Amino acid sequence: MIPPAENRPIPRRRFVATAAAAWLAARGLGSARGAEAAAPVDASKLAKLGGPKAVRSKPGPWVRWDVREQKQVAEAIAQTSLFYWLGRGANKQTALFIERFKQHCPREHVVTCSSGTAAVHIAIAAAGIGPGDEVITTPITDLGTVAGILFQQGVPVFADLGAATYNLDPVAVERAITPKTKAIIAVHLCGTPCDLSALRAIADKHHLILIEDCAQAWGAKFRGRPIGTVGDVACFSLMNSKHIGTGDGGVVASSDPRIGPALLKFADKGNDRTAPGYTWDKTAVLATNYRMSELQAAFGAVQLARLDGIAAKRAALGRALIAEISGLPAVVPPDLPANDRGTFWFFYFRLRLERLKCSRAEFVEVVKAEGAPMSAGYIPVPIYQLPFFQNHSFFAGRWPIREMGLTTMDYARVRCPEAEAILTTGVHFSLNESMDEAYVREIGAAVRKVAKHFSA
Ligand SMILES: *Cc1c(COP(=O)(O)O)cnc(C)c1O
Repeated sequence: MIPPAENRPIPRRRFVATAAAAWLAARGLGSARGAEAAAPVDASKLAKLGGPKAVRSKPGPWVRWDVREQKQVAEAIAQTSLFYWLGRGANKQTALFIERFKQHCPREHVVTCSSGTAAVHIAIAAAGIGPGDEVITTPITDLGTVAGILFQQGVPVFADLGAATYNLDPVAVERAITPKTKAIIAVHLCGTPCDLSALRAIADKHHLILIEDCAQAWGAKFRGRPIGTVGDVACFSLMNSKHIGTGDGGVVASSDPRIGPALLKFADKGNDRTAPGYTWDKTAVLATNYRMSELQAAFGAVQLARLDGIAAKRAALGRALIAEISGLPAVVPPDLPANDRGTFWFFYFRLRLERLKCSRAEFVEVVKAEGAPMSAGYIPVPIYQLPFFQNHSFFAGRWPIREMGLTTMDYARVRCPEAEAILTTGVHFSLNESMDEAYVREIGAAVRKVAKHFSA
């Protein structure tokens, strides 16, 4: 029986909370009204110097999977086989995954694979990229974007980027085209769609294949069109840290009749097991094994059901943060056209260091002290500056196609000034869907406070 209220002991938690609130209020720390009464707190004083932190709240717990994934994986475990066998026997997970994927990215041919890197390699191989063929792409990306080009003996050609989109500059792409160019890989960095109208027009004009690397852009939209549906092939990653994941995994998709039917072969040692009367046949091609199992597909199918919510939340938070840090002379927010949807795998902005009395390292240190978890830059150097690119030492210290005269590419002479500046002046914030708008506005307030403090 519950005793009447007045006789009930105050639960310890409530007592502590009430007492603490009274103590804080007495010192002008607990509420706006309390702050008026006590000595004024200088809100512009940096937390690093003992002032109040700009970020007081915390993001909620980041729960990325739960009993729903558990149930679906249990269903897979109840099967007698965990092999992807499309539509054969009782195996259903890969088919379910593909069905759900097509709701987000309607493409005729969809193939699950072991990683985003595998997805791009499969796309490059299915697109028929061969020795000496050039593929134009961005120097700010994951190595997975370019590994497949090199493994097919193609030549990555790096073009410069938009200053605030961090994506391929279509003018630079067109300038990089030579008679050897076969394809463009557009990477939607941090979830911001590339200018796909311009890239599509360039690809069509020069008869190039347009590959979209959507690894960082799950759920993004270009002029209302789902990411991955403007290019000829789309590649996605399901690596653990992406918007949705399966620990590791990938997807490659195409509606192009030249490319789509070949995807499965290049994911599964050169053969199409789903073809009627499948045997290792004369149409086989050289390819490695990039298969994904039913366990990952089961997990991924439930992750896909979460994608709409994750993408919408990240899109709204990113827009809110752009608004918060806009209009500052020393800060350049990311440029995301109003009619596109970015899904902010991370949030990246640039500093105008000539307008600041501090270095980027100091800026980041001080903004972190405000409670905003930020870090300097993204990848350490543009891809072409990696030592094995500078030395052209891709295959046991050698690069056979260069020795054979199929390319004269010299990565030691490549310069993409904007890309280099993006990496030396950028600040990275790991935005995610566990955050709410109030928290993100505090993050923005921290940037404003620090930028104002150091403004030259
Ligand atoms: C993560 C990523 C990849 C590679 O994906 P993995 O699944 O890690 O192989 C490729 N491209 C971009 C842009 C990425 O962010």
